[in-house]
Amino acid sequence: MARRKKIYEGKAKILYEGPEPGTLVQYFKDDATAFNAEKKDVIEGKGVLNNRLSEYFMTGLNSIGVPTHFLKRLNMREQLIRSVEIIPLEVIVRNYAAGTLAKRLGLEEGAALPRPIVEFCLKDDNLGDPLVAEEHIIAFGWASQQDLDDMLALALRVNDFMSGVMFGVGIRLADFKIEIGRVFEGDFQRLIIADEISPDSCRLWDIETGEKLDKDVFRRDLGSLTDAYAEVARRLGIIPVPNQQYTKPTLIN
Ligand code: 5GP
Repeated sequence: MARRKKIYEGKAKILYEGPEPGTLVQYFKDDATAFNAEKKDVIEGKGVLNNRLSEYFMTGLNSIGVPTHFLKRLNMREQLIRSVEIIPLEVIVRNYAAGTLAKRLGLEEGAALPRPIVEFCLKDDNLGDPLVAEEHIIAFGWASQQDLDDMLALALRVNDFMSGVMFGVGIRLADFKIEIGRVFEGDFQRLIIADEISPDSCRLWDIETGEKLDKDVFRRDLGSLTDAYAEVARRLGIIPVPNQQYTKPTLIN
């Protein structure tokens, strides 16, 4: 069998050349990292769960008209995606105080924010993905003003969709990170959601108990990461529910 060409390897995923021009194969690894890769482990099964979860969220977004790079799942660990030119910014949307926002502003973790807050961080591991202002983004040419307006609108639509889906299964979406890429269609370019949407890049809290169901379980040594991700997948109906505590939400298929 011909060896596939590896295009890029990140901390949690590998990108291979796709079967057709303009496509890539995204492979989900079991590697978990935190604190800018200072903490590392291999968590068996994480990649399989994130592949399914990201498929679920991206398919839902595609179906409500929020464009994403997701084309189809290929197998347990791989999905076919559109190739994009990644904008070098992490877009973070926050509904509740947590993580670096809570630390930076001295807020109590869990406090509801007055409205969703969108932040931009420069994607640069050597600098620790620093928070940047719109002024920096425009001045350094990482994105245009039009891109920023489009990114903000996309991020808020993703937030509404994800908050609703999660609320339907008893989970609070505290915050999340997305990446956005450009695709070129003739003379036009448009922005679409890229990378992944999974518990690796969201903070998910059980509404009743406050239990963490996201990568903070790994960051803070709170138990089994795969148990937490599997619980999210079970509630969404992605993997079977042993005792039928939750039924699949009717919002999306
Ligand atoms: P914070 O800035 O509080 O560390 O993170 C805010 C949100 O964005 C959290 O849900 C966190 O998981 C996500 N996030 C921030 N940076 C990264 C990153 O480099 N990789 C991933 N997977 N998620 C991130």
